[in-house]
Amino acid sequence: MYDSHVHTPLCKHAEGSLTNYLAAAQKAGLNGLVFTDHNPMPAWFDPESRMPAEQLPLYHALVEQARAAAPAGFYVGLGLEADFHPGTESFVRQQLEAYPYDYVIGSVHFIGAWPFDHPRYKDEFERRDRMDVYADYYALVYAAAESGLYDAIGHLDLPKKFGHVPPEEAWDLVEGVLNVIRNADLALDVNTAGWRKPIGELYPAPRVLERAAELGIPVVLGSDAHKPGEVGWRFGDAVEILLQAGYREAWVYRGRKPEPYPLERA
Ligand code: ZN
Ligand code: FE
Ligand code: FE
Ligand code: ZN
Repeated sequence: MYDSHVHTPLCKHAEGSLTNYLAAAQKAGLNGLVFTDHNPMPAWFDPESRMPAEQLPLYHALVEQARAAAPAGFYVGLGLEADFHPGTESFVRQQLEAYPYDYVIGSVHFIGAWPFDHPRYKDEFERRDRMDVYADYYALVYAAAESGLYDAIGHLDLPKKFGHVPPEEAWDLVEGVLNVIRNADLALDVNTAGWRKPIGELYPAPRVLERAAELGIPVVLGSDAHKPGEVGWRFGDAVEILLQAGYREAWVYRGRKPEPYPLERA
């Protein structure tokens, strides 16, 4: 198994050295990990939770160092979790073309200027209609999936993070987004961080994964670790849900190409 969603302290809200993450992954019995730290964005976009563009070469070098320190046969991938935000697509496209990444997750963390998954601004949920939030959010995810920038879509149902579960009417939007994801040959980031948040549920929800399995959408397992102890977080539970949803394999990316491996109960 591989943990394909791991952050580093360069994003300013994660702790532990890359070597610590690597050691944690080995201790968890994983076959590899992919660092996917938050990508540099244009200077005006959310600078407090990502590395500045000048640090990107340092990030590359740190992952290269971790790779050199890993035992033979243990995979260390270089990836990014890249924000999708309208108006920044060409910036991100150039960034992704400029370096040979292994894996790129496309994530929507903002609805307009609102960082809806930031605990500091969660009160905004009380000011908006729940369905409007999901409609705005899934319109952005839809555009992200159509952009051709990414390998996978990050934490598909993220607005539920603080417990604001989607209304039943949002299901049609999910169906539409899953179809675009399939048609664009994208995978889903199956992200166990949801179990560390108030919602206490996997991203995406099991019901979404059942539909994704029917559609033949591949999955990539990730912990979204922001500290070493979170690497491989509850992967056993995630595998159980994936098997029940009908999945028999997961993907890990190398050089932006998927490699399947079998999902097995530990
Ligand atoms: Zn983060
Ligand atoms: Fe994210
Ligand atoms: Fe993340
Ligand atoms: Zn994430």
